[in-house]
This record gives sequence, structure tokens and C-alpha cells, in this order.
Amino acid sequence: MLSAMDVFDTHAHYDDEQFDPDRDEILSGLPQKGVKLALDPGGDIGSSKLAVSLAERYPFLYAAVGIHPGRAESMADGDIDLLAGMTGNPKVRAIGEIGLDYHYEGSPRDVQKRVFRAQLALARDLGLPVIVHDREAHGDCMEIIRSFPGLRGVLHCYSGSAEDAMTYARMGWYLSFTGVVTYKNARKVIEVIKQFPLDRMMIETDAPYLAPVPHRGRRCDSTYLHLVAEKIAEVRGLDPEEIAARTLVTGKEFFSIS
Ligand SMILES: [Zn+2]
Repeated sequence: MLSAMDVFDTHAHYDDEQFDPDRDEILSGLPQKGVKLALDPGGDIGSSKLAVSLAERYPFLYAAVGIHPGRAESMADGDIDLLAGMTGNPKVRAIGEIGLDYHYEGSPRDVQKRVFRAQLALARDLGLPVIVHDREAHGDCMEIIRSFPGLRGVLHCYSGSAEDAMTYARMGWYLSFTGVVTYKNARKVIEVIKQFPLDRMMIETDAPYLAPVPHRGRRCDSTYLHLVAEKIAEVRGLDPEEIAARTLVTGKEFFSIS
């Protein structure tokens, strides 16, 4: 079932190898299916380059460049300069996705923290917003973010507490929500959605991961994003079209898309 609502998928990894067989077919079909805008965040130097080249090809697609905490150990001397160079492309609108992941701990925590700080400093120096991945690292993540006052950012696929969410709102930060909001065990994130300011919310698929119910477990793409808008609308007692429209406006402002 397709929805007529226009959405901005603020976090979708179309550079992921899961899209190798049919990437162009999927991307070229999205605008006719209500996906007004999408943003592909990089996970390392290679995937950031691919995200930028895809964004150059598709007018509705934007990119962010960064090194994911799971690949923090891959950061080499000179990578910060490479990332800085990529931001010269007009389709690059943020540094991301960056952060801390203590669930998988693909890299040691001290390496993750150093790589996270270096990229936050880069974003601050370039005047760009950041897209942050925080998995089971809520305390350290907030502490590091607080040491960069004035930086604008979004916590993608937010999984922290409602209390922390309100702290981020007071700091001027944003949260974005994925298909996880449709899962049965999503009580904690639903509590956040009940009270978090609507004008600081964005929506995303995190494609190819986290497909919303009833597609859970399948490869996700942006055409499922209306299901996230519908769930948030249900929780807030609003129309899905209103959630889609407001998160689209917020996403455009956040990523400076006119
Ligand atoms: Zn992601």
C-alpha cells in the first residue's frame, strides 16, 4: 500500500551493498511514491564517497559524510581532511553518521570517543550539523555533545530516556525516529514521542535496516516511511499527513534545503 503523503527520509543508507542489485531502480522510483527528499549518511570514507556520488545523481537525494562508531578504528591520518574535502560538494549537508556504539563495540570505547570528538570538532569548524548514532552509550554521548556547545545535531533512531530527550530539546537538538516505533517492545520510545516537541522531530527509515511493521525483517526502503509517520500520528492524536508535513519542514530547515 502506498501513501499519498510527501515525506523526507532523513536517514537512509542507499550506498549499502544490500541495494547493489537494484539501487538505481529503487532510487529513480522514489519521487513518484511520495518520497520528496532523502539523505544518505556515510559510515566510513568509502561509503561517504558513494553517498555523495548518489546525491549528485538524484536531485531529491542529499548526503552526509562521516565515520560510524562501529568503524572508528578504520579512521586513518588524513581522513578528517578527506571528510572536510567532501563537504565542499553542495549536496553534502551534515557530518554523519558519527557517535558511540557500546552494543556492538566494533571499536574500543576510547577509539570511538576520540573519533567522535574529532568529527564533532570538524562539524563545528565547518558550521555543519551532525547526525549522531548513540547505542547503549547515552551518558558518554551526552557528555561529549555537551562539550561542543552551539553545535546543532540530531540523535538518529533515538533510544534514550524521555528525560534525556527533554534535555536534548533544551539544548536545541533534534531527535529522529525509525520503524522501531512500530515494534511491540517500543514502549520507551513511545513515551518519548508522547512528550517531545513536534517541531524538533524528524523521521527516517535507516534503510536497509529497521523495516516497520508489517514489513519487519525485510529490506527497508523509503517507501515504508509513511508507516513511521502513521504511528507517531496515532500516539499524538494527529493526522499522519500533518506529521509527514511537519517533519518534512523540520528536516529541510535542519539540513538547509530550500
Ligand atoms: Zn544509520
